[in-house]
Amino acid sequence: ALFLQKIKKSYGRHEVLKGIDLKVKPGEVLSIIGPSGSGKTTLIRTINDLEKIDGGEIVLFGEDFIKPKALSNQRTVFEGIKRIGMVFQSFNLFPHKTVLQNIMIAPNYHEKNDSVSETEAQALFLLDRVGLLAHAYKYPHQLSGGQQQRVAIARALAMSPDIMLFDEPTSALDPEMVGEVLKVIQDLAKEGMTMIIVTHEMEFALSVSDRVIMMENGVIQVDASPIDIIENPNNMEGFERVKEFMGKIS
Ligand code: ATP
Repeated sequence: ALFLQKIKKSYGRHEVLKGIDLKVKPGEVLSIIGPSGSGKTTLIRTINDLEKIDGGEIVLFGEDFIKPKALSNQRTVFEGIKRIGMVFQSFNLFPHKTVLQNIMIAPNYHEKNDSVSETEAQALFLLDRVGLLAHAYKYPHQLSGGQQQRVAIARALAMSPDIMLFDEPTSALDPEMVGEVLKVIQDLAKEGMTMIIVTHEMEFALSVSDRVIMMENGVIQVDASPIDIIENPNNMEGFERVKEFMGKIS
């Protein structure tokens, strides 16, 4: 599936990722937690080339996918990115396009389907799936934050990605809207979507994930299953830090 090998990234003299190794199997749901500034967002953004890496290698389904800038092969990178869906903290919908148009842009641009009407049918199907079929012809500003984020998820799914990346998908939402977005992500997990989720919602991370990793200062401090975290915390390397970090796991 997805292999990250010795990923390094610095901003100036500040080394934000210090050689991250990570494997994600098909169908696996991985959550990334950790204190602010530990490199979670940077890590997830390297996976679809939104941040250039300084060292290491990213391999997706056996394809050499992303390499440091000097070595990268533009075409491989371009092809690879179509297989990765991304959902951002701040939705990033196109404000002057309707909900339906937002979902259709990427598949139309990449000529993913045989016809525009097929793309439209798929977009409507995805909107139904996130519970927003009735809002297809509205504009983003006419929707709540939770609804916009669900549109953003449908938009990412429209390219039929092999893997979905979520960068703190609920942290810009009012508390009452968090649940509806987490529910959509939970449903995707049940359907077997491979996902990496950066989140501060610890309870959600523990309930939805196969594995939880905790980052700190640019390294992975803890890599464990939710069951280990909940049931055998004392045997887990680095657990003291998770406990301190979360403050509420006993
Ligand atoms: P948070 O939970 O607050 O989102 P994070 O773990 O996701 O934090 P990152 O956003 O990956 O952390 O940032 C890691 C470090 O890299 C921080 O110190 C941040 O200030 C720095 N950083 C991130 N992006 C840039 C950038 N474009 N230029 C310079 N420094 C950056």
